[in-house]
Amino acid sequence: MIQLSKILCPTDYSRTSDKAVRYAIELARRVNAHVRFLHVMQPENIAEKTAYSYGVSKKVGKADVVSEEFRRLLMEEKKRGLSADILILRGNPYNTIIEQSNTWGTDLLIMGSHGRTGLRRILMGSVAEAVFHAVDIPVLLVKQDAADKAVKDYI
Ligand code: ATP
Ligand code: MN
Repeated sequence: MIQLSKILCPTDYSRTSDKAVRYAIELARRVNAHVRFLHVMQPENIAEKTAYSYGVSKKVGKADVVSEEFRRLLMEEKKRGLSADILILRGNPYNTIIEQSNTWGTDLLIMGSHGRTGLRRILMGSVAEAVFHAVDIPVLLVKQDAADKAVKDYI
């Protein structure tokens, strides 16, 4: 039998990864799986740089690293019975995603084909590609355009 109780959904809070988040929520609900949302912080933007220099765990709470919109969406879904958590880690996105996927014993990965950079001329972003090649579990890569059709009636 196929084990499908742990879904890992890495998100960079971009529009494309939001589509993957929708799929993860919907699928987790339907198959009664737990979904873990993973955001990997890089010292890329100023807010995160500041968070680094002050030591995220001490002075910067989750509020600063989880987007408000995402937090609200998840709270609603949890009220409706979704089993989910959010994990924030620092580091290199693809190594961190791969490592978390392995250590948690993930059954299915759901992520966007692109993220913040979103260059459509390339087949998929570098994080998506590295993760896809490195793991041996199924990966659901959600494309932004394809997903628009499927999720537009969701809200
Ligand atoms: P690139 O980063 O190569 O310039 P891109 O930003 O368009 O291109 P990716 O970064 O590969 O594309 O993003 C693909 C997917 O990988 C995202 O939709 C998201 O699911 C995941 N992802 C990317 N960055 C992160 C991150 N920092 N934390 C968690 N998940 C991420
Ligand atoms: Mn990216």
